[in-house]
Amino acid sequence: MTTVGILGGGQLARMLALSGAPLGLRFRILDTVADACAGQFAPLIVGDYRDESALAEFASQVDVATFDFENVPAESAQWLSARIPVFPNPRALGIAQDRLAEKTLFRGLGIPVPDFADVADRAGLDAAVAAIGTPCILKTRRLGYDGKGQFRIKSPGDVEAAWDALGAQAATVGLILEAFVPFERELSVVAVRGRDGEFRAWPLTENWHVDGVLSASLAPARVDAGMAERAYAHARALAEALDYVGVFALELFCRDGMLLANELAPRVHNSGHWTIEGSETSQFQNHLRAVLGLSLGDTRMVGHACMLNWIGTMPEASGVLREPGGHWHDYGKEPRAGRKVGHATLRADTPAELAEALTRVGATLGREAQVAPVVAVLAT
Ligand code: AMP
Repeated sequence: MTTVGILGGGQLARMLALSGAPLGLRFRILDTVADACAGQFAPLIVGDYRDESALAEFASQVDVATFDFENVPAESAQWLSARIPVFPNPRALGIAQDRLAEKTLFRGLGIPVPDFADVADRAGLDAAVAAIGTPCILKTRRLGYDGKGQFRIKSPGDVEAAWDALGAQAATVGLILEAFVPFERELSVVAVRGRDGEFRAWPLTENWHVDGVLSASLAPARVDAGMAERAYAHARALAEALDYVGVFALELFCRDGMLLANELAPRVHNSGHWTIEGSETSQFQNHLRAVLGLSLGDTRMVGHACMLNWIGTMPEASGVLREPGGHWHDYGKEPRAGRKVGHATLRADTPAELAEALTRVGATLGREAQVAPVVAVLAT
């Protein structure tokens, strides 16, 4: 009997546990809250990630540990890795937690990135804005996600407001200034690397965000083979440099045929949820196979897939369930503004069929605006 421990008990841990059931796996989850939604499927230990007694209890019950949440303190990951195997390794986690370390690594590996500068204080922000120019984005180096901890500086007149909003965090989580990329599209590579170094990637995914939160994903992204190869090469170089084990996502901006790396998510990723029904092996199953040292499954996809995120509240399911390729995922969470509460995946054999299904679902659920950009791309 193998037990996989997961730090963080949100929907990613929940879907990991669901995909591990056919492999006969058991799970233990450590989360800070008692109603973490993965706790509906696996025993939950409630405790702070820095609490050594909670970590010790967790470590004593699992064979291997992994994450559904990348902001687990690096010291806790380190503490655990002295006792049990932890994948991805704490160094990879630590780099992915810090936008400055991450972008510095990308650049060192020859992966193009938007211009960026470390911002230590108010004078540093002025210097960085002067060097990078406007528009640009001030971000917290650590603990930001889904567009949180970010301030867009459209012109030099916004610098004061940006500092008012985030300046206090320069001394705690650090700040980074990045050039604003007027991208044509956002793409992600979701990939997996096994304990033996085997690397596989799912077809490239195109993503749409609303207010910094993922709204829809389409796979395969409609890009030429050359661009897809470049994206895979970047992902592979990163995985090898970090000796990464497990699934990760590399988020990319596409502009004028160029790919610029935005960030590395050291875990299964929202832009890979379509793999559950759209691919031979889902990201969740392959993550578990990777951390357990099992053979990786085929990442080939079957047809075309679109994932729609449900944020805040779940819509009515029937419009998706009546679609032949419609799949419903309710995370069992309480509705709350801005919270990811579920998703749907639509799968079809052709782009035209997928566009028709999306149009129907958009109209039935009153989500026309959410499906519109995907339908537009499928029509090209
Ligand atoms: P992040 O938390 O860095 O993934 O940012 C969330 C979203 O904000 C991204 O998916 C983009 O839509 C947008 N964004 C972040 N950084 C930039 C940038 N440098 N240029 C343009 N848009 C950005």
